[in-house]
Amino acid sequence: MSAGTTRTAALLLALFSACGATAPQRPSRVDTIDRFPAPRSSEMEINERKPVIDEVQFRALIHRVMEPYQKLAALHNAKIVLRIPVDATVSKDCMSATDEDTILRCSWLSDFTNADAGRSRQEENWSIGVGGGLARLPTMTPEGFTLVLCHEIGHLFGGFPFLREGFTGLALPVSVDGQADYFAAQVCLRKIWAQDDNAKNAEGVFYEQMIEPLAVTQCNSVHEAKEERELCYKTVFAGMSFIKTLSGKVDPEVIPSVGTPDMNEVGVTDNYHPSPQCRLDTFLAGALCPTVLHENQNPAAVYYDETRIPGYQLSSPGGEVARSQALAASCHEDFWPEGARPRCWFSPEQTQEGGWMNEL
Ligand SMILES: [Zn+2]
Repeated sequence: MSAGTTRTAALLLALFSACGATAPQRPSRVDTIDRFPAPRSSEMEINERKPVIDEVQFRALIHRVMEPYQKLAALHNAKIVLRIPVDATVSKDCMSATDEDTILRCSWLSDFTNADAGRSRQEENWSIGVGGGLARLPTMTPEGFTLVLCHEIGHLFGGFPFLREGFTGLALPVSVDGQADYFAAQVCLRKIWAQDDNAKNAEGVFYEQMIEPLAVTQCNSVHEAKEERELCYKTVFAGMSFIKTLSGKVDPEVIPSVGTPDMNEVGVTDNYHPSPQCRLDTFLAGALCPTVLHENQNPAAVYYDETRIPGYQLSSPGGEVARSQALAASCHEDFWPEGARPRCWFSPEQTQEGGWMNEL
């Protein structure tokens, strides 16, 4: 590829991947849309249960998560736009819709059980797409769906490490899935739920009673304030709702648990979706890592600066400076391992100098 070639990489990242996810396609357009695994026959009965989320709540949750991040996107001269998820099957009228109300209506009506985020460095519009089919899955809760939305926001605002293009190894302008998960739990959910009473769900059940006792113990061992502990419980609850939906399983024997962390250590940061267990570990780590960091959590950190996307402003988004910026916004594994980005997807020493793929 010669210098000066103008390319637009409209990058789209899906929330879930099916087995056998493929490598990125040609650089001119990179889509990693994978369908949510089809339910097994034993799950069909479960899926006949009434969904928890209705259209009104679907719309409200999307607006709630997008609104504060719209202000932060403006700092980068960008705007977050909703669009119909790329793989969704919708009517012709929906395909040409441009107003947000119609896009929301069409998104809700689609059976698409996935979500995606996309960004090009040359375009001012950063996009998010969410399928109504995902929100209607009976294992999905409002808390879990908020986490889904925060994961997509995390692709845009989570920063280093960024996805790498398969052929060139250059960075694409969205965070890898592990980072999107970590950002969702550490930063986004805290921001969205900051003003809520986070002790109980809408039915008045305490989150503390709906998560594993070990998770409660871990939240309590890290957080002293009652409000922080409750937020931690709620984040773990959201993570479990997400994971149950992702796994598509109802057998408690095979559902990931906070007591069985993924002990695998990657040599190179995972470019795609980590295992469900690894993702749960990441949600827990994010819940256990504050955004206001103290010296004992990370000597290099000051606090999380929400106006900055670690590495995004740099000409070498995978390099040492980008890695340092990201570390300064998270917990250090040598000092606060409970809240550090898990090794099952993150390689802390790895850096890779090089520019943005779509600026070649
Ligand atoms: Zn994703």
